[in-house]
Amino acid sequence: MQIKVVKFGGTSLADAEHFKRVAEIVKADPTRRYVVASAPGKRTGNDVKVTDMLYNCYNMIRNREDITEYYKNIVQRYTDIIKGLGIDFDITGELEYIKHAMMARSGRDYAASRGEYLNSLILAKYLGFDFIDAENVIFFKENSEFDEERTNIAMQEELSKHKNAVIPGFYGCMPNGTIKTFSRGGSDITGSIVARAANADLYENWTDVSGFLMADPRIIENPLPISTITYRELRELSYNGATVLHEDAIFPVQKEGIPINIRNTNHPKDKGTLIVPFASERNNHHIITGIAGKKGFSVINIEKNHMGSEFGFAARIFRCLDFYDIHTEHLASGIDSMSHIVSSEKLNSKLDEFIPELHKITEADNISVDTGLALVAVVGRGMKESKGTAARIFSAISNAGVNVRMIDQGASELNIVIAVYESDYEKTIEAIYNEFVKD
Ligand code: ASP
Repeated sequence: MQIKVVKFGGTSLADAEHFKRVAEIVKADPTRRYVVASAPGKRTGNDVKVTDMLYNCYNMIRNREDITEYYKNIVQRYTDIIKGLGIDFDITGELEYIKHAMMARSGRDYAASRGEYLNSLILAKYLGFDFIDAENVIFFKENSEFDEERTNIAMQEELSKHKNAVIPGFYGCMPNGTIKTFSRGGSDITGSIVARAANADLYENWTDVSGFLMADPRIIENPLPISTITYRELRELSYNGATVLHEDAIFPVQKEGIPINIRNTNHPKDKGTLIVPFASERNNHHIITGIAGKKGFSVINIEKNHMGSEFGFAARIFRCLDFYDIHTEHLASGIDSMSHIVSSEKLNSKLDEFIPELHKITEADNISVDTGLALVAVVGRGMKESKGTAARIFSAISNAGVNVRMIDQGASELNIVIAVYESDYEKTIEAIYNEFVKD
């Protein structure tokens, strides 16, 4: 029999009504055997996520403030869900215990993790599934890195004991037994870990949108959805700003080639986006799969005659960047010049120290910094075999009156990254979208 691992995000489990929808989805398909749950998310636009409320509690305790009144809001969120579901389930003991453990300084990650812990207890009860605590099956190493192999063995062994189970997302356990969370949105990673260990046929990630869109809907009106995307294309889009799935969620399932299907809990009939290891067909028959981008970059231009023949020149620059914890996002070079694109936020706070140091170690003729740049990534597995794609991109941008500051095309020809001024960011995305997608 097939196995599907299903993960539900915070908005899908924000209140009793959503819990009921989730149960309908799970029960509609007996192959949906393992469920990973997030903490209750926002019910309305100005609501507060339970995870954020827990972080607030942690901060209040650190500031020696009394959390009694504030904590009642968290209690209310869970008791409302239980009441709305009409189940006979008393978690007041758990809630009391957590409050005291937080006050006894159990740590920031412990506090944050309790959102998924409690939600999963309730969901397990409601579905009639077993509960597997992530702290017993997801492990981190001493240096806080995720311990994938130890986790996979423990998770496999535990899953084999349960036909159906709910596992809380977002957290695991350090070697000393304390709780550690992934970064925000990390329940997506837990879902992927469970899917790998279950050797699932599919990892369904249920959220509040019907998958990835070809461009940011705040810039393009009603962009087309992406029906199929490869792991590698998704990595490029997520890294460059597309947010639906945690950018590290790909890795565990990638090991086994398990596809991920992004689905919408509020529109369960929508097919969503299928993320696959390889795809021969283009996305919706278009050359490009998607466009993503981010603002907030600077370019450091280094000029020096004959730099190319100077042994170790680039290595010295990279060492200096490393020392100041500045990461090169993209690199372009000429015979006597080199341009590093870096995050403005990282650079700005260190500019006064970093530039003189860079001068010293390179003895460059000139170093200049240009800020206020945005990066736009055009991603598509179809670009490789279509002649003239770059020409179309650049004429579309130029016709829109945009000045291109830098271009980076990886050898894989899966993406082209273009740096433009921030003021041209939206215009650039519109021009490319209109060129490739609009008839
Ligand atoms: N609840 C956590 C967060 O808000 C983790 C998650 O939902 O994936 O980031």
